[in-house]
Amino acid sequence: MSDERAAALAALAVEIEACRACPLGSHRTQSVPGEGSPNAELLLVGEAPGAHEDAAGRPFVGAAGKLLDLLLSLISLQRPQVYVLNVIKCRPPENRDPEPTEIAACSGFLERQLALLQPVIIAPLGRHALRAFAPEAKISEAHGAPFQGETRQTPAGTTLFPLYHPAAALHNGALRPTLERDMGALSRALPAARSAWRVARGGAGEASLSEIEAAAERDQLRLFESEAQ
Ligand code: URA
Repeated sequence: MSDERAAALAALAVEIEACRACPLGSHRTQSVPGEGSPNAELLLVGEAPGAHEDAAGRPFVGAAGKLLDLLLSLISLQRPQVYVLNVIKCRPPENRDPEPTEIAACSGFLERQLALLQPVIIAPLGRHALRAFAPEAKISEAHGAPFQGETRQTPAGTTLFPLYHPAAALHNGALRPTLERDMGALSRALPAARSAWRVARGGAGEASLSEIEAAAERDQLRLFESEAQ
């Protein structure tokens, strides 16, 4: 299964590289389909490749990627254990925000990747990635807790767990402790998310979204108590 999934993801990457559905396909150096373990429980979704990623053909290889690695290490994870991809597979010129037409042109690839990967948790990084799953949600309100997805993109039983984008924490250092705490909360949400994932696939497990939310609320309360001390 894992081999089949890896082969299907690789075939999709070839399609992505050949894609010219929007003008970005003709401007970029290389497409950046994403990479990681085909069996990853955690999928991190960024916005779009930047200059470093465009040159390397790999996601999050610049400064934001270094911070991402550090954040993963806080919960004892390394890149090869997770999967990292972007909503948009080609670099927008001058790192501008992707246009809605570009996001729409790329959405089929994202959807197919999610259907193949079927992760336990999807962590959209920042507001643009969050929009692909919950168009009305605000990252400032949704970060650091399980979140109900609103689009057909989210596979059944997968828990959404929005995080601030690492680049946001590089620009605004005050966000970094929040991002670090949110990583801890994500790690603690994993057991309940696993149960929800198994239940959706007809296996044993008991957690519902409300149970996951209750666990996250307990986390936040604990955090509040420890900060008050
Ligand atoms: N920022 C993103 O959103 N994605 C990358 O791959 C790199 C930086």
